[in-house]
Parts: sequence; structure tokens; C-alpha cells
Amino acid sequence: METISKVVGMLATNVHILADERTREAIAIDTAIPSLEWVQGELAARDWKLKLIVSTHGHWDHMGDNARVAEHTGALIAVHPLDAHRLTNPPAPRWTPLEIPPCVPAVELQEGGEIRFGSIRLEVLHTPGHTEGSVCLLARDEGRLYSGDTLFAGSFGRVDLPGGSAEAMVDSLGRLAGFDDPLMVLPGHGPNTAIGRERPWLDWMAREGRLPV
Ligand SMILES: [Zn+2]
Ligand SMILES: [Zn+2]
Repeated sequence: METISKVVGMLATNVHILADERTREAIAIDTAIPSLEWVQGELAARDWKLKLIVSTHGHWDHMGDNARVAEHTGALIAVHPLDAHRLTNPPAPRWTPLEIPPCVPAVELQEGGEIRFGSIRLEVLHTPGHTEGSVCLLARDEGRLYSGDTLFAGSFGRVDLPGGSAEAMVDSLGRLAGFDDPLMVLPGHGPNTAIGRERPWLDWMAREGRLPV
């Protein structure tokens, strides 16, 4: 599996493209605005064919360019069903600094499901807390976890927005703490980390049963 990443847009979203070297099939994760030119350029330069656009959750900084990228590549859009309404009904322009085009997801990401194209294998973990339908994507063979806005280096996603839940976040982070220390974590914002590096506060949280303030 080949992977490339770029920091994109007003909220510095980490956008990723994963591809299979042999079949040239690719998927994009969290196409924030403006991702289209970068995605198109990389696909053309590397002879990759985009099959799927995955949103780790439905916030505008993780799906803003879904519609345009889908239109130009023919890729399908995937999201957890509990966050699908955020893609079909994005916030009105007065709530966001950019106009966010709606898009229609065709693929449902479900707990225990798997995204598979060639050698690309991503296990879907439903990890609510930041939103109802937040997911993490586990590339087990590569030892990588795409954690969206659930787990960041040194912190976790907000739970005070609509659909957020502190209790659900504790459970979801507790689940991530069950992975081995070397698992590399690629969050939706900010630098990469590893489960082992976050373990001190994750273990504290699991013991206390509440989020660190
Ligand atoms: Zn978010
Ligand atoms: Zn975000």
C-alpha cells in the first residue's frame, strides 16, 4: 500500500490518499476544501484511479470537497450512516467560512466492516463521541490507525458539538487504548502519534471512567 498525505484548508485537515501499487486503485480520506487539485494531480502523476472517498465523520472540514472530488473522479462516497445527514445537509453558509456543497454517500461504513481495494484493507471501527457516526480506520497490516477527530496527539475531539457525547468518547478512546503501543495514529488534525505515546492519559481515563479536563 502506498500512502500520501497533505494538510489542507482553514482547519488544517490531514487529507490522505492510499493506493494499491499493482491495481492502481486508490481511496481518499477526509477531502477537506480545497483537496480537488491536489487529488487530481496526484492521481494523474501516479496513474491511480480513485474508487472511494471516505469521511471519518461528517464535519465540513472532513467532507467539504467530497462532491467535487466525486464528480471529477467518479469515486463513491463512504461515511457511517449516523453521520450521513451531515453530508447530505451540510451547515448553511452562515455557520461555516466556506460554502459546503452537499454530497450523497453511496457506501455505508459499519462497525466490523472492511474497505478493500487490492492490497488496501481498512477495518472500520465505529468510535462515537465526537459525532454519533465517527469512525476510525485500521490498516492492520501497515500498523496504522486513521483516527479522524476521535484521537489526536495529546488530546481528543470535542464532545460539546451536536451529536457529541463524553461518555461515548470515553468508551471509544478506551477501545483504542486496547491496541498495542506501536500502532501509529494518523489523526484528522495535527501530528501523527502512537498508541504507546498516548497511553498514560488513555489509561488514566480508563481507570477514572471520565475524560481528562
Ligand atoms: Zn470534527
Ligand atoms: Zn476536524
